[in-house]
Amino acid sequence: MKKSILITLLIFLSRLVFATEGMWLPLLLQQLNEGEMQSMGMKMTAEDIYSVNKGSLKDAIVHFGGFCTAEVVSAQGLLLTNHHCGDEFIQSHSTLDKNYYADGFWAASKSEELPNPGLFATFIVRIEDVTSQVLENVTEEMHPKERQAWVTKNTERIKAEAQREEYQDVMIRPFFEGNQYFLFITETYRDVRLVAAPPAAIGKFGADTDNWVWPRHTGDFSVFRIYAGPDNKPAEYSPDNQPLQPRHFLPVSLDGVEDDDFTLVFGFPGRTEEYLPSPAIELRADVLNPIRIGIRDRTLEVLNEAMRNDPEIRLQYVSKQSRIANSWKKWIGESQGIHKTDGIAKRKEYEAEFRKRVGENPEWKSEYGDILDSFEKLYAAQEPYAKAREYIGEIAGRNIELFRYVNTLHSVIKIYDASGPASLESRMGRIRDYVEGFFKDYQPGVDRKVFASLMEVYFNELAPEYQSKFAIEQFVAANKDYGTLAELIYGKTRLIRPDVMRQAMDAGPDALARAIKEDYAYVFVRSIAEVNESEALTEYNRLEEEINLLQRRYMKAQMEVFPERRFYPDANGTLRVTYGKVAGYTPRDAVRYETHTYLEGVMEKYVPGDYEFDVPEKLRRLFESKDYGPYGENGKMPVCFIGTNHTTGGNSGSPAVDAYGNLVGLNFDRVWEGTMSDINYDASICRNIMVDIRYVLFIIDKLGGAAHLVEEMKMVHPKDKN
Ligand code: ASP
Repeated sequence: MKKSILITLLIFLSRLVFATEGMWLPLLLQQLNEGEMQSMGMKMTAEDIYSVNKGSLKDAIVHFGGFCTAEVVSAQGLLLTNHHCGDEFIQSHSTLDKNYYADGFWAASKSEELPNPGLFATFIVRIEDVTSQVLENVTEEMHPKERQAWVTKNTERIKAEAQREEYQDVMIRPFFEGNQYFLFITETYRDVRLVAAPPAAIGKFGADTDNWVWPRHTGDFSVFRIYAGPDNKPAEYSPDNQPLQPRHFLPVSLDGVEDDDFTLVFGFPGRTEEYLPSPAIELRADVLNPIRIGIRDRTLEVLNEAMRNDPEIRLQYVSKQSRIANSWKKWIGESQGIHKTDGIAKRKEYEAEFRKRVGENPEWKSEYGDILDSFEKLYAAQEPYAKAREYIGEIAGRNIELFRYVNTLHSVIKIYDASGPASLESRMGRIRDYVEGFFKDYQPGVDRKVFASLMEVYFNELAPEYQSKFAIEQFVAANKDYGTLAELIYGKTRLIRPDVMRQAMDAGPDALARAIKEDYAYVFVRSIAEVNESEALTEYNRLEEEINLLQRRYMKAQMEVFPERRFYPDANGTLRVTYGKVAGYTPRDAVRYETHTYLEGVMEKYVPGDYEFDVPEKLRRLFESKDYGPYGENGKMPVCFIGTNHTTGGNSGSPAVDAYGNLVGLNFDRVWEGTMSDINYDASICRNIMVDIRYVLFIIDKLGGAAHLVEEMKMVHPKDKN
């Protein structure tokens, strides 16, 4: 009897010790992780990674545009990130005649580097725990609104009092669902120029078919440079700006890493939700993901066909298509992975143990005894609204371009209605840029097909109480034919006619507001959004607020009830360290994946002229002649490798460094079987995918002929130390 209890407990505990799971705060490494990291082979100290007193690894890491990570690799502010992080900028400089996206771009000197308005790079100067100050005067019994008022007031005060230079910024973010708060002092550089990019056939090799999949052969990198003012401080773009002299830059290792070697990935993971209750995971995996996937299946069918058939559309839609396809494929993998790893059953086991422990402790029982039952009720109540929100969000908010565009124009109208014509006048430059940017990459014929396909989902799958009466009337007027409805909307709207929009903008705020408000498509889209707001979103948000409050209590409760578990805060776009080892995995019975891919694999996948698997002629020649320079290894050219680092979106472009802090790769993806790691990390099959830095250097030098960039970096051979 005793033995069986012990075994159950051991099995349970072994599940709680998630080796390599976790996205850790750099300033807490010494306290929480340094010992383990060193026992895994790391030769650095926590202070080498994050220090406020000396240059450390963190000073080479930037939040790239707020959505990816990049790292400084030279004393002149040279930055590496992923191709898929830089693609919208590469595309924006491309035309069919000068197609940098398809053919690659290699600035021969600094004067050829291309500015990117709107792009920025943010360094973290310092992080501080400000929990006690933020929660000053806050009590457990307090009404949530009162609590929020204190948190806001305290946050404002701490920010105002924070020690910083005037060119630095300060932000405070909640962690563990608002149980902790950290302050960040940051420096943001706004002159970030494009330096180099490989041809898309290398940077996006394998495209959607290979995305989220191992074995992988993508050279997913691009090169930028940070420019600073004459004092090396952040400055708006100016031709007189100078390359940044960074506090630290990463040396680049030519030695690579082998199985079982220590690796560390340092970056800005976007969002994870590792501590959700099982009903939330069920809702995501079985209800919401299938809705999103079904809608995007339709959008992608239209976009992919149009892009395959027309090079101009391919160039215009490449970044939009990637955004839609990337999440679409991830959600498919996520739902599959949750089921395959019994994620929901495991979460229920964990909850059973939670209930048991809480039940045995009278204090916990009164404080936390209601949590799991309340979650069940709340998620059940929220489900119909969540479904409607998802349908309308996908259809009207993310997939039909006309709708997205009209939503943005609606924000113009809101400003106009609230603050009058003068407020629009002052924003006219930005509005003009937005509208022109929209037209540059817009094909009404393509969008119309997406519209016709998605309206079928709107009228057939969305519950009738969330459908707009006006939209139904138009549908009836179109004889309930989706193509005819599309003709009606796209034929009647004047908002997608560049001449009309330019004229309205030239005529000033009143004319522009009138042109928008009276437009047929505007009325149509607004009617859909208004029903969504009144029938679904209001109730959805009310329940979501309750869920969030409960989640904060649940987080606190878990940390108390499972003292043996090492908790890390969910990703929230702040700087984190994750570490692991180079390791393969077994995706299914009798299949074992190795850790490294080579150029041989690129050639195995090569399909001449194919949209996804073509290989540039120059790369084929380099392969044939085995002209790998110092970057090859035993006559082969390494391309990608995998490890057990726990990463997510936002970690794209993050440096993977070796035990000494030398750059060995750029993180860019995760493996198919492990895409559920954002809500249900499973150490046995969750792996991150990195492009080997030697492949990056080889492409820059041998294919791009940009050896001067490699020369700017500092090459090292750490294995000589052993
Ligand atoms: N490739 C991924 C992305 O772009 C990165 C990741 O989620 O691991 O979101």
